[in-house]
Amino acid sequence: MHFSDLNLNKPLLKAIFEKNYETPTKVQIQTIPLVLAKKNVIASAQTGTGKTAAFALPILQLLFHQQDTNKEQKKIRALIVSPTRELAVQINEEFTDYSKYTKLSSTVVYGGISIDAQKKVLKKGIDILIATPGRLLDLCKQEIVDLSTIEILVLDEADLMLDMGFIDDIKKIDLLCPTQKQILLFSATMPSKVVHFAKNLLSNPEIVEVISRKSETTKVKELLYYVPKPNKIELCLHLLRNTIKGNILIFRRTRNGVDNLEQTLLKNGFKVETLHGEKSQNLRQNALSKFKNNEVNILIATDVASRGIDIEDLDVVINFDLPNISETYVHRIGRTARAGKKGTSYSFCSLDEKKYVVAIQKTIKKAIPVVEDHPYALKRKEKAIDSNKKKNTKQKNSNTKHKKSRKSLASKKNKKRWY
Ligand code: AMP
Repeated sequence: MHFSDLNLNKPLLKAIFEKNYETPTKVQIQTIPLVLAKKNVIASAQTGTGKTAAFALPILQLLFHQQDTNKEQKKIRALIVSPTRELAVQINEEFTDYSKYTKLSSTVVYGGISIDAQKKVLKKGIDILIATPGRLLDLCKQEIVDLSTIEILVLDEADLMLDMGFIDDIKKIDLLCPTQKQILLFSATMPSKVVHFAKNLLSNPEIVEVISRKSETTKVKELLYYVPKPNKIELCLHLLRNTIKGNILIFRRTRNGVDNLEQTLLKNGFKVETLHGEKSQNLRQNALSKFKNNEVNILIATDVASRGIDIEDLDVVINFDLPNISETYVHRIGRTARAGKKGTSYSFCSLDEKKYVVAIQKTIKKAIPVVEDHPYALKRKEKAIDSNKKKNTKQKNSNTKHKKSRKSLASKKNKKRWY
């Protein structure tokens, strides 16, 4: 299959050619014809599958017929709502590249920076707007953005938008758009809350499902290190000095965790950047550019800050803290080994995180290979304490069960007596 088989017009094919894309990806092959046929689409596809082009290319083609409108008279015809600023910027970059040989224009708006510059660009007239929900609603309130001319609405990373609490904002945005419009919803995962939300929003949607959990993770070499919590830093330093090479993304659960690890790695001579929600937009963008341009090879991030960001050539993912949601593990390790490349994930598990490993292994339907031979492996004593703890809990549970059954027996007896 070639891009030319997808009925895309010449200006788009020329731009694709310049991007050096050889063939369309699975999500593009499935989604582009549906969007061109003006269907509503629910697609489950992660960042890295080519999903942005899967909606950007057919949107540009659909908008192409009225591209000649004078700039000042342009009305916003396509709206892409994205949960994070970084993702919104990335989407706009792709729209800009693909629309190079058309007269269609796009812009991106997001919070955390001055609104005035954004207002100026919007007033000049654009066809496609990429926005984060909060800033978009601000601009609508100030009557700078009018959504009544929207023909196509895209909700990107819908699962993350719901996780981040944007559900009411999205509902408001939907109401500000005309009822008659095409909606495309993309989500990396499809938990029931997303399915429910999508069903309420989209009528007669076509479903595109591209990646199964298994195929996402099979390309990644996964390794699990059991390690006492206080030794995680030492284990990380040990691996960075002796074993791990290349571009590394380290996940921590909290902002403080990210900052602490950054300090330690900097003190030990590593080049590090960080991403978390408390950092200003400029700092985040700066950190990301340094990592993408290979000025630093280690990026430490929280899940929310890094979600959706496309980082090419990622060799290693370190789960410094294990995620308490198994889907997050799949997302994290799916950031490496993209486009047929090799990738490795290192997961550090302290005793209190063992329950997460059980849940993750259930989700990915396999056991993660354990590396026992490392200087900070759990000592026999710690393992024994852990298994004793388990025994005690089992014992407690069975005692409570016995007590309960004795009680219920007694109550049954009592009942008999009452009769
Ligand atoms: P996305 O999933 O949209 O974040 O895309 C991930 C990366 O894949 C981006 O850097 C795109 O430029 C790139 N990409 C998109 N489509 C293709 C394609 N057909 N062939 C090669 N790379 C692509």
